[in-house]
Amino acid sequence: MPGEFIDVRVDDEIAKDKALAKKLEEICPVSIFVAETQGLRIDESNLDECVLCDLCLEATPGGKIEIIRLYDNQ
Ligand code: SF4
Repeated sequence: MPGEFIDVRVDDEIAKDKALAKKLEEICPVSIFVAETQGLRIDESNLDECVLCDLCLEATPGGKIEIIRLYDNQ
């Protein structure tokens, strides 16, 4: 089920990057990113746990991940 308050969008190009998927899985404190054999999967059941720490944004090259705050349209 999608998040009610937060959505995370990932560029298709980096979703296939297995090394980055593993890194994101390790750094997200609330386990939103899951590294699978095909690449990155978003665990939608955890989206609303996002603490807006920006660690995933810092770990990913230029704007390939977006954290969307659904509650204020940012
Ligand atoms: S901002 Fe932090 S908590 Fe939210 S998805 Fe990125 S790493 Fe996870």
